[in-house]
Amino acid sequence: MSLEIFDNPGETPIQFVESFPGNIKLYIKREDLIHPLVSGNKWRKLKYNMIEAHKMGVSSVLTFGGAFSNHIYATAAAGAACGINTIGVIRGEILEPLNPTLSEASGWGMKLVSISRQEFKKKTDGAFISVLEAKYGNFYLIPEGGSNTLALKGCAEIAAISQDFDYWCVSCGTGGTLAGLLSGLSNKEKVLGFPAIKGGEFLESDIKSLLMNAKVKSNVPWELIHEYHFGGYAKITKELLDFINDFKTRFRILLDPIYTGKMMFGVLDMIKQGYFPLDSNILAIHTGGLQGITGIEEKYGIKIK
Ligand SMILES: *Cc1c(COP(=O)(O)O)cnc(C)c1O
Repeated sequence: MSLEIFDNPGETPIQFVESFPGNIKLYIKREDLIHPLVSGNKWRKLKYNMIEAHKMGVSSVLTFGGAFSNHIYATAAAGAACGINTIGVIRGEILEPLNPTLSEASGWGMKLVSISRQEFKKKTDGAFISVLEAKYGNFYLIPEGGSNTLALKGCAEIAAISQDFDYWCVSCGTGGTLAGLLSGLSNKEKVLGFPAIKGGEFLESDIKSLLMNAKVKSNVPWELIHEYHFGGYAKITKELLDFINDFKTRFRILLDPIYTGKMMFGVLDMIKQGYFPLDSNILAIHTGGLQGITGIEEKYGIKIK
C-alpha cells in the first residue's frame, strides 16, 4: 500500500474573485485543485482514514453512498492510487449502463454493491456491518460522505492558511467539512454553511455530534443558511445553471451544480442583500465535486460550459 497521494501539504491557492461596494471582498480557496481525481474536501476526509486503514493493515475499505456520490468516486480513486481494495455500498438499484460516477469507480476496481433504500438506513448499525463483514471479509469502514473524526482532522487542515478572513463559506452535505473547519479555525471568524439539501435542519445536531465525537470544543461562531438548496439534493434550476455558466465566463472557475454552485450563488446573493458588514473579507471554499457534472448533464439532458 502506498500513501503517496496524501503525502502532500495540501496547500491550495486562494484566489481573489471580486470587490463589492462597502469594501467587501470575495476570495475562493481552490480545494478543487488538490488532486485531479480525489478532489476537494473528499481528499481531506480520506487522508487520515487511508493512513489509519494502512496502519491497521486491512486489505479493503468499505463505504456507503448514492449513485452520483463524489465520496464514492473519490474513495475508489484513492483506493486505486493507494493499492487498497474498495467496496462501495450504493443506495438503491445500480442501473445499467453505469452512470459516469459509478463507471469510473468500477473502472478503478471498486466493488459495487447495491442495497435497498430501506437497508441503507442501517448503514451505521453494528449488526448490519457484521453481515457485510461476513460477506466481504475484514474491512476498514468509512461512513457515508466520509464524515468521521479522522475526516474532521483532515478538514481542519483547510483552515491552515496565513491570511485572515472574516467569513468562511462552505457547502454542506453531511456537515463533516464544516465541523472540521470549526475545529481548525480560531474564533475571529464566522463560518457559514450552505446545505445542498432541502430540510437540512437535522444538520445542526449532526454537526454538534461530529464535534462531540471528535472531542472538539470550538468557539467559532457558525450558522447554516438554508435558503439555497434549489429544491433539494441534486435538484437544479435554470437560474442555477445560468449562474454557474456566467461565473465560469467571468472568473474562469467551474462550479458544480450540486454543492459549490449553490453555495456561491448564496454567497453572492447575501452580499447583494447586505448580509455582510462593511470591509468584510469573505473566503468561499471550492470543495471540488466537478466529477458530478457529467452525471447531472446526462440526468437532465443539459450541458454546462
Ligand atoms: C461531499 C461534498 C460536500 C459536502 O461535504 P460534507 O462534509 O458532507 O458536508 C460539499 N462539496 C462538495 C463538492 C462535495 O463533494
